[in-house]
Amino acid sequence: MTETTDYRPMWSELGLDLDKHDALLAALGQAYGDVFLSQENRPETMGYFDFVMGEIHGLRVKELVDARAAGRIVVGSFCVFVPEELVLAVGGVCVGLCAGADFGTEAAERYLPRNTCALIKSFFGFTLEKVCPYISACDLVVGENTCDGKKKAYETFADLVGREFMVLDMPNTKSGEGRAILKRAYLDFAARLENLSGVTITAENLTAAIELVNAKRRAMHRLARLRQADPTPISGLDALLANQVFFYDDPERFTQSVNNLCDELEKRVAQKVGVAPAGTVRIVISGCPMAVPNWKLPAIVESTGAVIVGEESCIGERGTQNLVDGSGDTVGELMESLVDRYFAVDCAVFTPNPTRAPHTLQIAKDCRAHGVIHFALQFCAPYQMEAPLLEREVEKGGVPVLRLDTDYSTEDVEQLRTRVEAFVEQLRGESEPIAHRS
Ligand code: SF4
Ligand code: SF4
Repeated sequence: MTETTDYRPMWSELGLDLDKHDALLAALGQAYGDVFLSQENRPETMGYFDFVMGEIHGLRVKELVDARAAGRIVVGSFCVFVPEELVLAVGGVCVGLCAGADFGTEAAERYLPRNTCALIKSFFGFTLEKVCPYISACDLVVGENTCDGKKKAYETFADLVGREFMVLDMPNTKSGEGRAILKRAYLDFAARLENLSGVTITAENLTAAIELVNAKRRAMHRLARLRQADPTPISGLDALLANQVFFYDDPERFTQSVNNLCDELEKRVAQKVGVAPAGTVRIVISGCPMAVPNWKLPAIVESTGAVIVGEESCIGERGTQNLVDGSGDTVGELMESLVDRYFAVDCAVFTPNPTRAPHTLQIAKDCRAHGVIHFALQFCAPYQMEAPLLEREVEKGGVPVLRLDTDYSTEDVEQLRTRVEAFVEQLRGESEPIAHRS
């Protein structure tokens, strides 16, 4: 990660603790070099994503600061249930707030019990240690009543975040009542955005915003399809990076960059060029989101010689699946389509959540995966408790599952490696991926 411009005055104005921020960037740069830049045979067009990561606290933050100076609002979110389309419709900028680093844990534990998931501790830690320029650059930070951990943590976080803060009230059942709750939440969110920006949501600006986000999702669908090739043309780590940048980047530029990457990958597929030989063990990761810079498990998996070919995760399928039907003529019709798209997301906070296991099996089949690794953050009740149900269903469909619980620390790396190696070895001994067998 090389900073070419001096962003320190900007970080200072944003209220960051420069010493701690330097320490965070140094650790990030080191991890990025070790995990990503050391990979062999990467697509050339990944250079764009390397650049974005190199400038993740620099150029992109400056763009947000400039956008605000130009009168646009900046909205930060923690969850794929916060619809970017509404923010774009009022001319705003939507950014995902990363919560993937083991940073500021001690500070976070002054407010949170130790047995809180690493993701929640991470966004508390970043805020308390004043190292997140994204939070500082926001006009509005949006939480959501999803799992109990987040729901209760936001009560404290609202007083700590130092920005306008709102919580979307989320449903926890896939019922008519559940859909009505989601719709109410989106109408409240739309009203708050209109109030903050002074821009009214119209059929025209909402249609344009839907198309912008659909284009971004279409590009990610194209990338997902290309990863189905054997040999696969891109590593799981690089594909994860694209999925992570999905939440930060300017949408138009991001779409173009993913399409450029896909153009290159198409050529690789035609020439049978892969990041690993044909027949390499193929893995789908399922479970909790992997926010920047949580690259621990994918790095371990790919270091064993297996390749990750899909993610049933928020930083993956849950973020990119399905498009919004943008054919409605009125704001009301378009809002219904928006609610339909998001209500189909099968996060484990829903109970029951019957579509997630078949969905995961389908991804494994489409990706011609040999096995699924279920990743749950420790103390994440929804995903940890859903894991055995998912394991049973996916294995019934013929795909072996390995369940892992971990956090953001490096303490368990060797233990995880041992378990992943044994799983990959077991899969190597099996004949064919599921799609070849059926
Ligand atoms: S796991 Fe569920 S609650 Fe967490 S970010 Fe994803 S959709 Fe939101
Ligand atoms: S990882 Fe689990 S516990 Fe943590 S915020 Fe997401 S759903 Fe909640």
